[in-house]
Amino acid sequence: MPFPRSPGAREHISIDLVNSVLEFPGGKTSDALETPEAATAWLIERGLLGEGAVLRSYCRNRLVGLRRDLRDAFTAVVSGTIVDPRVLDGINAALTAAPHISTLHFGREEGFFRSLEHPTTRLVEHAMSVIAEDAAALLSGGEIGLLARCEAEPCTRFLLRTHGRRQWCSTRCGDRVRAARAYARKRKAADG
Ligand SMILES: [Zn+2]
Repeated sequence: MPFPRSPGAREHISIDLVNSVLEFPGGKTSDALETPEAATAWLIERGLLGEGAVLRSYCRNRLVGLRRDLRDAFTAVVSGTIVDPRVLDGINAALTAAPHISTLHFGREEGFFRSLEHPTTRLVEHAMSVIAEDAAALLSGGEIGLLARCEAEPCTRFLLRTHGRRQWCSTRCGDRVRAARAYARKRKAADG
């Protein structure tokens, strides 16, 4: 069952990418990028790959590497720690791997139009540069103070606190915490 996106993940593809691994109680995890096919579908769903494109496992691993770097950067933000320079190198490598400039084209029907053109071997570079661009803008911008990690353990998803002091990535996580608290209160009352 797909988990709804956390607040901010719809606007920020970098948050969406970091949140593509879900951790459930009992140590279960679910990774939306588990295989090259799954990673391909994830990118197509977000308009970062054209229909029919296929990522190879090498490309999938690079995308997972970027996710790790972004998670480390987000974690540094919410915990107030220093970012490892290797994390910055990873994000910058993704940022500069593909040009963002859309070239000019001309078609009989549509006239002039602009579009990003990438050789098929560089599809993943293009997707990664878009994600890294979003991350760079988010991390260096005014919204970064709103970044938070879901407080419903063991969930590790990130969110933007766009609505007050929101603590959870989803109502599902919030309900789980509330249920656990109610249970703890009941037990305490029964023991006391
Ligand atoms: Zn959560």
